[in-house]
Amino acid sequence: MSTVLLLPRLLVPVRPRLQVLEQMAVVIEGEFISAVLPRSEAFTRYADAIHIELPEHVLVPGFINMHTHSAMTLLRGYADDLNLQVWLNDHIWPVEKAFLSPGFVHDGVRLAIAEMLRCGTTCFNDLYFFPEVAAATAVETGMRACIGLPVIDVPTVWAADEHEYIDKGLQVSASWQNEPLITTVFAPHAPYSVDNTALQRIAELSDSLGLRVHMHVLESSWEVAESMRRHGKSTLDRLDDVGLLNERLLAVHMTQLNQDDLDTIARTTVNVIHCPESNLKLGNGICPVAKLLGLDVNLALGTDGAASNNNLDLLAEARSAALLAKGYAADPCALNAFQALEMLTINAARALGKEHQLGSVEAGKLADLCAIRLDTLQTTPMYDVVSHLIYAVSSQQVSHVWVGGRMLLQDKKFLCMDDSDIMQRANDWAKRITSKTRAMRSREYKFHE
Ligand SMILES: [Zn+2]
Repeated sequence: MSTVLLLPRLLVPVRPRLQVLEQMAVVIEGEFISAVLPRSEAFTRYADAIHIELPEHVLVPGFINMHTHSAMTLLRGYADDLNLQVWLNDHIWPVEKAFLSPGFVHDGVRLAIAEMLRCGTTCFNDLYFFPEVAAATAVETGMRACIGLPVIDVPTVWAADEHEYIDKGLQVSASWQNEPLITTVFAPHAPYSVDNTALQRIAELSDSLGLRVHMHVLESSWEVAESMRRHGKSTLDRLDDVGLLNERLLAVHMTQLNQDDLDTIARTTVNVIHCPESNLKLGNGICPVAKLLGLDVNLALGTDGAASNNNLDLLAEARSAALLAKGYAADPCALNAFQALEMLTINAARALGKEHQLGSVEAGKLADLCAIRLDTLQTTPMYDVVSHLIYAVSSQQVSHVWVGGRMLLQDKKFLCMDDSDIMQRANDWAKRITSKTRAMRSREYKFHE
């Protein structure tokens, strides 16, 4: 096993908090960071190590995308400028019904992983059909993934009803349990699309197996009214009744929160996954980030799928989150740059129950890392590198990425994937989809003859 010394200009380890370090070495041995120490000491202690010089770079923990539907990269730009229910019922679900298959998921996930790696993401929390294909694709590309075991009351080619979804999910979970890059979690689609019996079974299994539960919750005002109409109680009261409100829940969106909801979230230590760009694009509302932070709620960030964002760029998401939190709270101190960086890294690790393994650059943690170039016009001059990371850096400055000690991106070049093949396959899918579904499209542009 060779030892590698990473020698960045600056290191922002995230833990300990608020540190910016110079003249440091990060030592990688196998999958892990074995030490973070001054260079002079590292050169003596690890005399035979391989050196990787990063003279114009800041080294940070790899980013964790806490909510996406990675295969939906193939539907990027397919239907836009629509409200959530119309977007899902009239556009996304019909096209998925026509094209959903293992091949679709493989090619979509591979495109997503390529895009995410380029943006410094080293782990993604996925919610989609054919989770076994997503897991295999992540392992094939060297990416770390938290794979959702989907459950929804809509039959698909993957499963016929909620109980078959759960049973198949359990098989997928068991078959990937020894793969270090893969974690599995339950992924019931949303409170309005999974019934009480299935939610209760998921809560019991989550408790006995220790698996987390990843779910869209309180995404739109329609969902608030629908819960009262169908169940006579609020969404969070219903989830509490079935036993889902606890530290294992990854509640995505949460744009519709009243004071009772805020108190319930704080009391039950639910994790909130904020997807500001998807919420804005679908006009769904705004998650009250400043209030949640004030209640010590654990908050992390997701891009959502590329069909509702329309990119998987977490640095851009963090910038949007910081700006939106300030605008919404009318407080420029709401969600500062370091807090936004924590949402991309250590808070996400905590939400996944992996705070001891991921989310910071510390000895003993997995070597999931990202190096970002600082010698660009848009990051010159530099007074505060954390400010730059959130407010000025573009993801195009991401140059190197490591997952579990393995370098996957070097000087912006993939070491494990072929961009042109990935794009070719995605374009082939778009041709097939376009030729079959023109009638389903939201809008047809008129061309003058
Ligand atoms: Zn989503």
